[in-house]
Amino acid sequence: MIFAIGREERVKGNPLNQKTINKRVIIMLNAMRSQGAQIEMRWGDWPRTIEKRVEIYQPEELNRFFRACRPEERTLFQVFLCTGFRQREVATLAWPDIHWKEGKIDVSAKLDLGFTPKSYEERSVPVPMALIATLRERKEGSRSLLVFPTSPHPTRPDYGKGNKPDGHLLELAKEIAFRAGLNCGHCKGEYTVYVLNKGVQGKAKRAYQCDSSPRCGNWNLYKFRRTFATNMLQSVDIRSLQLMLGHKNLATTEKYLKSLRLDQLRDRIESSPLAAYV
Ligand SMILES: [Zn+2]
Repeated sequence: MIFAIGREERVKGNPLNQKTINKRVIIMLNAMRSQGAQIEMRWGDWPRTIEKRVEIYQPEELNRFFRACRPEERTLFQVFLCTGFRQREVATLAWPDIHWKEGKIDVSAKLDLGFTPKSYEERSVPVPMALIATLRERKEGSRSLLVFPTSPHPTRPDYGKGNKPDGHLLELAKEIAFRAGLNCGHCKGEYTVYVLNKGVQGKAKRAYQCDSSPRCGNWNLYKFRRTFATNMLQSVDIRSLQLMLGHKNLATTEKYLKSLRLDQLRDRIESSPLAAYV
């Protein structure tokens, strides 16, 4: 019974992740045990989770993506790729977070924007100096405290006063991928639109396919973070990467090590005796 916690719950229409449910179960078990409850776990009680392969962008995909970017979009996604920051960390990035001389970018709490870093840990990530130079150019034309504020409202110049974090970065990534012809062409689904019917606002479902709309599941912001982590591991040690990603536990960082090991097997597979039979 205890494992039903959260199973029926929907977050924005999606079922909760099994790992999230498991975490809740652990918290609840601990709370009950600390109150003296005797709870014995038996073999098979614990739900299984699937350890998914780490999906990253390949160099050719990234080249095509960046070629399809407008200049300001290119800087935004270069920051995603070279910092490994999470969406909110990029959206709330402010100019004082950039250390121009040291070539580092901070993740810092922005209480006025309602942003605190995950596990409440601030951190600093070194980036290539070329990125710092691009950001310096961008700063010259900026009137906002934020590096990537939401774009100005078409009819209301005061809206957000150019200091609102952009909440549409995911949609932007998908749009650029579509523009670059990078959609996989197989995603299908439905999305909700708000429609005005005889003066009454209502919702309607629209079908989509990613071969004709910017909604490909292969393109998301977290994949930039995974691409960053996997590429970084070729040059930095796992402890440094843990700091850069802001992971509380090393185990979370280690999953990148596993995927990297498999990738590095490529050459050996080609030179193995079995390859001679095919
Ligand atoms: Zn797709």
